[in-house]
Amino acid sequence: MTSRADHKILLDESEMPTQWYNLIADLPTPPPPPLHPGTHVPIGPEALAPLFPMDLIMQEVTTDRYVDIPQEVQDIYKLWRPSPLFRAHRLEKALGTPARIYYKYEGVSPAGSHKPNTAVPQAYYNYKAGIRKLTTETGAGQWGTALAFAGALFGIDVEVWQVGASYDQKPYRRMMMEVFGAIVHRSPSMLTQAGRNQLALNPNHTGSLGIAISEAVEVAAQDPAVNYALGSVLNHVLLHQTIIGEEALRQFAKVGDYPDVIVGCTGGGSNFAGLSFPFIRENLKNGKNTKIRGVEPASCPSLTRGEYRYDFGDTAGMTPLMKMHTLGHDFVPDPIHAGGLRYHGMAPLISHVYELGLMDAVAMGQLDCFAAGVQFARTEGIVPAPEPTHALAEIIRQAKECKETGEEKVLLTALCGHGHFDLAAYDAFLGGTMIDHELSQDSINAALETVPRI
Ligand SMILES: *Cc1c(COP(=O)(O)O)cnc(C)c1O
Repeated sequence: MTSRADHKILLDESEMPTQWYNLIADLPTPPPPPLHPGTHVPIGPEALAPLFPMDLIMQEVTTDRYVDIPQEVQDIYKLWRPSPLFRAHRLEKALGTPARIYYKYEGVSPAGSHKPNTAVPQAYYNYKAGIRKLTTETGAGQWGTALAFAGALFGIDVEVWQVGASYDQKPYRRMMMEVFGAIVHRSPSMLTQAGRNQLALNPNHTGSLGIAISEAVEVAAQDPAVNYALGSVLNHVLLHQTIIGEEALRQFAKVGDYPDVIVGCTGGGSNFAGLSFPFIRENLKNGKNTKIRGVEPASCPSLTRGEYRYDFGDTAGMTPLMKMHTLGHDFVPDPIHAGGLRYHGMAPLISHVYELGLMDAVAMGQLDCFAAGVQFARTEGIVPAPEPTHALAEIIRQAKECKETGEEKVLLTALCGHGHFDLAAYDAFLGGTMIDHELSQDSINAALETVPRI
């Protein structure tokens, strides 16, 4: 097909998928259930009712293969969706590779990342349930920005606890959340018991996603009119993100190509699941054979060095216990620049998919990642967020391998956000002050000590 040579592969608005895809329906075994944090008995949907509206709880536990996207959500998605699929001709040329490299670009959204794909439906279902305020955590600030935007559309107040290290490093993210109308706190804060406990241990605490989650959950749990929203990890979040992969399948069909390899960065796992799950369905049901690989930071390697066991989603131990690859809920990763990848656990559904052998994972140091990010910017013209540079580094590695072997592999990744608010990180890289942190087995073992024994 001649259009295979196009740089940008677009869908019309009328071609946007109208359903999300639930991989659980097609797996040989279901993922293990969440457990009550005190009794260790599997929890029912009602246990989540203090924090989430029933529509989202039902999506959390559903085994239906497809879930309809509400018309109101589709209408908002069309502010930036369908997102473009790019063929990276100029990067290919610079690498001299016979591989065909594609990237699905989610940086065109209002927040500049894939996060609004779930923030909008989450705000919508909460609005429908009569909720007028949402609390949440944010790392680098992308999730907080997405929820602030979605809250503004539905007239819902949004209060955000931002990980201290990012709050200090990325003031423009805080300002953007405030433009969308959110209230932003540096975490740990004095506003919650969880925050006060951490500040008592260390008044200069740089925070972690686990602590920020504890603070946001604590506030939401105390007030029936307030709910909590999570930007990754949970089944319903991964479900909402599958619009990325569903669109990509249609875009590949348009140009008559198909990926041999999908590579994605994994923090909590939502952009990775969003792109890859529809392709895993094609592997399981339609005879396709795409290799799926997650890339995580060497400083926070939950899949490659964590243990698969029940752990809390937050540091204070308030969430249900989830079976996942975890470094321990007390683990505080080094303050690397990919703030969105600094979570101690991996989505339970991705952990299960990993255990089933339907994907694999590698870890990458940040210097290699930023080198890839700079090469990508200088060829394709988009400055990537620090998180997807992890996937780009692996894509570039594989493309170079193809040059050696002469293989014409088709490589696909999610360019899940732009790095316009992360230029200080690029500055540190270009200025030579960025370092790779060595993560010792001792510090992993220490954090795993406090994980419940079940
Ligand atoms: C939040 C975020 C991530 C990490 O979260 P996942 O759930 O793993 O996708 C990665 N990249 C960007 C751009 C993000 O905003």
